[in-house]
Amino acid sequence: MRPIQKSKKLDEVCYDIRGPVLEKARQMEEEGHKIIKLNIGNLSVFGFEPPDEIVQDMILNMGNASGYTDSKGMFAPRKSVMHYTQQKHIQGVSVDDIYLGNGISELIVMSVNALLNTGDEVLVPSPDYPLWTAAVSLSGGTPRHYVCDEQSGWFPDIEDIKKKINSNTRAIVVINPNNPTGALYPDELLQQIVDLAREHQLIIFADEIYDKVLYDGNTHTSIASLADDVLFITFNGLSKNYRSCGYRAGWMVVSGEKKHAKGYIEGLNMLASMRLCANVPGQYAIQTALGGYQSIQDLVAPTGRLTRQRDMAHKLLTDIPGVTCVKPKAALYMFPRLDPKMYPITDDQDFAYQLLAEEKVLIVQGTGFNCPTPDHFRVVFLPNSDDLAESVGRIAHFLEGYRKR
Ligand code: PLP
Repeated sequence: MRPIQKSKKLDEVCYDIRGPVLEKARQMEEEGHKIIKLNIGNLSVFGFEPPDEIVQDMILNMGNASGYTDSKGMFAPRKSVMHYTQQKHIQGVSVDDIYLGNGISELIVMSVNALLNTGDEVLVPSPDYPLWTAAVSLSGGTPRHYVCDEQSGWFPDIEDIKKKINSNTRAIVVINPNNPTGALYPDELLQQIVDLAREHQLIIFADEIYDKVLYDGNTHTSIASLADDVLFITFNGLSKNYRSCGYRAGWMVVSGEKKHAKGYIEGLNMLASMRLCANVPGQYAIQTALGGYQSIQDLVAPTGRLTRQRDMAHKLLTDIPGVTCVKPKAALYMFPRLDPKMYPITDDQDFAYQLLAEEKVLIVQGTGFNCPTPDHFRVVFLPNSDDLAESVGRIAHFLEGYRKR
């Protein structure tokens, strides 16, 4: 029989956060090994429970939620998102500009798919949350990675962005707060990106899913609040701010220069219709979450669990010889660097396999985030303090062995 192959469309598509190393970890678990998982920002499995009112709301509304809704979502949760955009000073948003989705993953793919033709380019950060690169490739576009510079706290390098803009460039992706680096961008930098987008007529895709996971009293500016003459698509949802990854509830907001985007918006509407609607209990939960007590602030307070674990993981990791790490200002991740002189890694996926096999700790290799060099890895700082200390201790032990090779 003729072998059944995956489509050619997938040739360039890669999503290593759930890639072959995770597959290996699954096998090892089946064989009875206990793996410490530092690979995914899945809060509730580490005991960061969603607010009870959201859980109760999901249960309560199950009975009302068995029918389809409008493709963009129900009116009331969209209205609550509209109110949220007002709080974030994004101008001129109506309920009609808001689309609810099964998490923002679905909306990211839709928004890119609705835009790109073969040969179109999208500026994507490096390192990035790899769904963005994958979505651009899947849509037939070409991801052009712009440098986020570790030396400057992982901020986007504006000169590099300028160099990479050409007549095929259609959009720029801004992930702020950032996964995997934990960077939080200052307003002046966001303004520079807006100015470039205006000059070159680019859409700004703003992934702001961590906009409430902010440490050290930092505040977040939505890039879409900085202009009304550039087209912005802003993404946010319940997964992280409300510890509800599994409820698959997110939204995107179209704002700014909508007048010239009628065709694109028609495309978005078409794709939203084709998937009928987002899961309905999740839609109800959006309204409850946005209107409820914002308990994330307790976790990111100076003595909150996330802050304490961030500080601890950062100290333990950077105490290891040859390991440096920009301290995250936001989000759930660290992206440490391994000094290539001490750790001459050529294949960081293999490095992750070895760490898993020898120490039973699961990380994600830096190249999985489209980092150009094999000298980084990403960890979450979500396990409780004991497990964090244990896992970083195992990483330290593994690296000690690596140095002696
Ligand atoms: N964007 C970023 C930057 C993320 O880190 C994640 C998940 O980790 C997502 C999007 C996906 O979010 P959702 O659960 O809403 O699909």
